[in-house]
Amino acid sequence: MTTFEAFQQHVLPTYGRFPLVPVRGEGCRLWDDAGRCYLDFCTGIAVCSLGHCHPRLVAAIREQAATLIHVSNLYQIPQQAALAREINDHHVKLPGKLFFSNSGAEANDGLIKAARRFGHRRPQADGSPRFEVITFQQSFHGRTLGAMAATGQTKIQEGFDPLLPGFRYLPFNDPAALETAVRPETAAVLLEPIQGEGGVNLATPEFLRAVAALCMKHDLLLCFDEVQVGFGRCGEAMAWRAIAPELEPDAISWAKGMGGGVPIGAFWLSDRVIDDTGVALSGLLGPGSHGSTFGGNPLVCAASLAVLQEIRTQHLAANARRQEARIRATIAAWQVPVITEVRGLGLLLGIALDPARIPTPAGATPALVIVRRLMETGLLVPPAGPHAIRLLPPLNVTDAEVDEALALLHAVVTTL
Ligand SMILES: *Cc1c(COP(=O)(O)O)cnc(C)c1O
Repeated sequence: MTTFEAFQQHVLPTYGRFPLVPVRGEGCRLWDDAGRCYLDFCTGIAVCSLGHCHPRLVAAIREQAATLIHVSNLYQIPQQAALAREINDHHVKLPGKLFFSNSGAEANDGLIKAARRFGHRRPQADGSPRFEVITFQQSFHGRTLGAMAATGQTKIQEGFDPLLPGFRYLPFNDPAALETAVRPETAAVLLEPIQGEGGVNLATPEFLRAVAALCMKHDLLLCFDEVQVGFGRCGEAMAWRAIAPELEPDAISWAKGMGGGVPIGAFWLSDRVIDDTGVALSGLLGPGSHGSTFGGNPLVCAASLAVLQEIRTQHLAANARRQEARIRATIAAWQVPVITEVRGLGLLLGIALDPARIPTPAGATPALVIVRRLMETGLLVPPAGPHAIRLLPPLNVTDAEVDEALALLHAVVTTL
C-alpha cells in the first residue's frame, strides 16, 4: 500500500493534500520519497523558523529526550521557566506571564478565557459580566470551537453551528468602523497585526493605533494573535513592533515558528494592574482555572528555547528584513504583469496574482495553479487565498537560496 493509498483508507480527508511525500529535510531543502530535492519556502506554514533539522534544535531535542521528556505541570519545570523568561526578557520586553499550550488555536482559546475572566472582574454597569471579543473579517485564529468562533471567515465555520457566542467581526483596517463598535458587553479586541491565512493583509499603523486607543477608552483588552507572525518572522521580535512599536498589548498568542517544528504554543498576559484592588491581568487565571497535560513539557520547551535563542543571537529578524528588501527589489525589476503586488512584512510575503492572466482548470484557483507549477520546478510555497501565494522561507535563509527561489518563480510567471 502506498502512502497515498494508506491516507485514503485511514486518514480523515480534512486536507486537500498535494501528492508530495517529503521524507527528509536539511536547512532550506526537503527531499521526497523519490529522492527529488525541493527548495522549501513553505516551512510547514511558517513553522520551521531555522529550516529543517537545524543542528542546534536537533541537539536540544536529543539532549532533552535522553534526560527527561515529560512531567506534569503539577511540578516545577526548569525548561518552561527558562523559556518564559527568554520570551519576557528578550522578545516581548514587557512585564507579563505565560501559559504554554500545544498549538495556536489552544493559545487563542486560553486568551479568550482570559478575556472572559477580565469581563467578570470588570463587569458592565449593571453588574453582569462583559464577554464579547471583537475580531475582524478575514481573520484566522484556529479550528477549535473557541478559535473557530473568533475567526471571521464563514467558510471555516460552515456546518459547525451553533458557534460559541460572544464574537463580532469588524472590517479590517477600517478605523471608522471601530467608533460605533463597542457595546456594553464588549471585553476585548483580538487581531492579527498581519493577517496570514486571510491573504497576507497588513494592519496599517493608523488602524493598530486606533484599536489600541479604543481599548484604552472602553477598558477593553488589546489582544494580538502573533501565532504566525511572531518571533522574527516579520523582521522584528514581535510583528506589532514592526508596525506601531510603542503599543503595549494586554495579551498575545503564539505558536507556529516558536518551536521550529515541535508542537508548542503559548499565550501571554500583561502584569498590568486592572483595578484598585491591585490585581494584575496576569493574576486572573489562578490555580485550577486553566490547564494542559502536555503544554510546556520539558521536551518542547528545551526545543523552543534553542530556537528562540538562535533567532535572537543570530539576528534572524534582521535577516528577514534584509531578505524582504532583496525579494521586493528583484520582483519589482521583473515587471511581469501577472504579479500585481507584493504584500507583507519580513519573510511573511504574499505575492498577489492577476487571475485574468492565469489559465485555470475547473476546481483550481489561480494560486493553486502557480503553487503546482512551482512544485514541478522544485520550489515549495503555500497559497494565500485564491489569488496569492506566500513566501515563508526559514528566517536564516541565505542570499543564494533566495536568489534560487526567485529564479524558479521568474521562470514560472514568465511562461504562463
Ligand atoms: C495557524 C494560525 C492559528 C492556529 O494555529 P494552530 O497551531 O493551527 O492551531 C491561529 N492564528 C493564526 C494567526 C494562525 O496563523
